[in-house]
Formats: sequence, C-alpha cells, structure tokens
Amino acid sequence: MEPQRTKIKELLKSDSFGSKVTVKGWVRTHRGSKQVHFIAVNDGSIIHNVQVVADSDLFDEETLQHITTGSSIRVTGTLVESMGKGQRMEIQAQEIELYGTADTETYPLQKKGHSLEFLREIAHLRPRTNTFGAILRLRHAMAYAMHTFFNEKGFYYLHTPIITGSDCEGAGQMFRVTTLDLNNLPRKDNGAIDYTEDFFGTETNLTVSGQLEGELGALALSEIYTFGPTFRAENSNTPRHLAEFWMVEPEMAFYDLSDTMNLAEEFIKFLITYALEHCRDELEFLNKMYDKELIVRLQSVIAADFERLSYTQAIDILKESGRAFEFPVGWGHDLQAEHERFLVEEHFKRPVILIDYPQEIKPFYMKRNDDGKTVRAMDVLFPKIGEIIGGSQREESYEKLTDRIAAMEIPAKDIWWYLETRKFGTVPHSGFGLGFERLMVFVSGMSNIRDVIPFPRTPGNASF
Ligand code: ATP
Ligand code: MN
Repeated sequence: MEPQRTKIKELLKSDSFGSKVTVKGWVRTHRGSKQVHFIAVNDGSIIHNVQVVADSDLFDEETLQHITTGSSIRVTGTLVESMGKGQRMEIQAQEIELYGTADTETYPLQKKGHSLEFLREIAHLRPRTNTFGAILRLRHAMAYAMHTFFNEKGFYYLHTPIITGSDCEGAGQMFRVTTLDLNNLPRKDNGAIDYTEDFFGTETNLTVSGQLEGELGALALSEIYTFGPTFRAENSNTPRHLAEFWMVEPEMAFYDLSDTMNLAEEFIKFLITYALEHCRDELEFLNKMYDKELIVRLQSVIAADFERLSYTQAIDILKESGRAFEFPVGWGHDLQAEHERFLVEEHFKRPVILIDYPQEIKPFYMKRNDDGKTVRAMDVLFPKIGEIIGGSQREESYEKLTDRIAAMEIPAKDIWWYLETRKFGTVPHSGFGLGFERLMVFVSGMSNIRDVIPFPRTPGNASF
C-alpha cells in the first residue's frame, strides 16, 4: 500500500522529526553532486518548497537524471532537521517514484523571472509558478471569505442564470447564444431572423449581471447574493476589463442607499482583513515582487473611513482641480477612471463612495431622487482601480419604473416578471455588484486584470 501523502503546507508546520513522510509534487529545482542531490518540491498547497535530500548511493543514475525542473514525483523518507540555510526541515529520501518527466529542452518554466506577458501565453502552465500559485490561492481565499461574510450575516446564495432572454440591463454589449445554423439562418417573410426556430424559441444572450433575478430573490428571502460569471462583449482592451468576469451581487430588501454604502464598506474591509490575516505568505511575495506598497495600501484602506459625497460635489472638485484630464469633466458626463483615480489617490487619499448620479448615465432600475435629475446610485472608487463596486437603491414604485422604461424605450413585455414584483408586495430595496477580478487586482497588487483570473477572456483571446 502506498504511504499516506502529506501536503507540504501541513508538513512545514510539523515538527515530528524522525518520522516517515510522503510528499507528492512538482520539482522546482534539482542540483546534485557525486554524493548527494538536493531536490526542491512544490505541490501548490503553499508557496514554499520542501527540500528533498537524495543520497547518490540509494538511487540509480537513471532515475536521478529524470528528476528535472517540472517533473512530478513521489518522495518517501525521513523528516529531519535541516543543517542548511533557508529551511527548517528536509526529507531524507528513501524512495522516489517518478510520475512524469519534463523535457529540459522544451519545458517552458525552466528559469525564473518570466514576464507576465509570456506567462499569459502559457496559461496552462502558469499556475505552477510562484506568482500564479500565490494569486490562485489568494483568489480562493477571497471567494471563501466572501461566502463567509454573507453567510454570517444571514444572506442566502442565489444561483442566477447564465443564459438570459432579457437584454435590457444595459450594462454592455452581450454575447449571443444560439444553436441556429449560421450558414443557413431561418428567416421571416420580412427577412428578419426567425428566432422562434432557435433553441429557446427566442433571442438569448449570456448574462451581463445577475441583478434582476437577484432582486426577485431578495423580494422573497430578504437578503441574497449571487456570485457567478458575467459576460460583456465590450471591446475595451484595458487592464481593468475582461469579457468574462465574476461578479458578487448582494441584493437586500428593506435597505436604503446608506445601509447599502455601509454594507459595501464593511464587506470590502472584511475581505481585505481576511487576506492580511490568512494569506500572509502570498501578500509578502507579491509585495516583494510586484508592488512594494501593497501591504501598506491594504492596511491603509481598512483603517480609513471611506469618503462619501455626491456626484455633483465630485464634479465640482474635478473642475476646480485645474487638471488637464484626457476626458472632459462636466455635469452629465460619466466619470472616467482618470477622474475616479484623481479623487481617490490625490484629492481624498482614501476610498470614495459617490452617490446621486445623473439618471441619464445610469440604468433604468435605479430609484429617482426628488430633484427629478439624479438617481440613488452608488459607486465605490478605489486606488489603482477606479470603480470597484457599482450599486443603487432600486426603484420600488411600479408607476415610476414603468414611466422610466417607457422613456428609455425598453420593451416592458420582456421584463413583465420584473415589473410584477413592484405590483405585488413591493418594498424598498438595494444592491450592488463587486467585480471580483477588480477586487483581486487591488488585493494582489497586480496591474493587469488578465493576471488575476486563471484563464482570461479578452477581445481576440479565448485560448485555454
Ligand atoms: P466600468 O465603467 O469600469 O466599465 P461598469 O460601470 O460597466 O464599469 P457595472 O456595470 O456597474 O460596471 O458592473 C459592476 C462591477 O463589475 C463594476 O463596479 C466592476 O467592478 C465590475 N466590472 C464591470 N465591467 C467589468 C469588466 N469588463 N471586467 C471586469 N470587471 C468589470
Ligand atoms: Mn463597463
């Protein structure tokens, strides 16, 4: 029987020197002399390797030669205190089993220090680097912390559909979902494509947001959140946009906008605190390699009260700044990342929550303010990122909502089910969406969103 495997994360905590252990993993480095070989093994459970010491007498030349960077092995041996520098323990190998070789000439991760651009081209192997191991463990921890936060608050996780028949959310261009033969499309008499022949009998797309269905959940379970992939076919080749990204969307009955701002601030601080407490190795590595201010920045964000002000006040500040922005500043224009970052990084030097945006630049479902011009929107702006959260109090009045969708020429028949929630037991409610990868960019200190998701989808790229 094969000996029980210990993950390296557990092993490095142990001090049962003298006992027999088995580790399995991938070889990071192998250096040897005539008498003795040193093999660094990593199994992805933790950033650190374990050092294996193999006596040349015990192993045949052939086996040792195949233990190259990238190969995979099982090692069984005795855990001993290390005499060498840099590690507390090592394994004195008694058995080594080679699972798979990795050809020295062709294995791409031979040497250290590959560029992030190069690693994107080998996204199938980049999880084996220290950088992506750290990011993927951090990503897991953030997802876990997110579920923990909501679970402890009594929110229920609602699974909303990926394929949607409504395209009124207006959050961006959608990806069409169809089983029609694109070379032979069924046509109606007037030449238009006949979607009644399509799989769902209607036009369908990939969702841009789970919000509308999230609201249905909140108006029954009180507090829910969704967490799932969302898709936007916007051709924005920026370091902050993906075509497929994950969004966390809490939706809360009986919350007004200020309750929602409080929740958003508490939520982000909880996630960052969790990272600082549970992902220390990862953050220290990323701080050292990519962003010397990372840990200090994370600490400063949890210590700060987020600044709260209206869109109108922000426009005044931007106008008075005397800055030459690339995009014009003016009431009624949407804020660009450069404006958001000026407010956060230079003016207030802390995260900012902007509220009460002009209704023209926001979707139909946001609650109108009494001024007739603005809506109860809320964007949370972060250093390095700009917008990290977008949310609002929702319009709960059936009349106001139907007025608005008529004005925006949104076909009411497509969202009759959404409108019915305002007819039957409507209540004040609110919610927001946090782009999970934007959070990851902030927490990891990486500067490109392509480097915080395992397999990024961007215009022109759907490999892996
Ligand atoms: P932006 O103006 O930055 O494009 P948005 O106004 O389109 O954002 P929302 O529609 O409010 O964003 O989406 C909610 C959240 O989802 C945003 O606050 C952001 O964190 C995230 N997000 C939006 N679009 C993308 C994208 N293409 N890639 C990654 N995250 C995104
Ligand atoms: Mn967008």
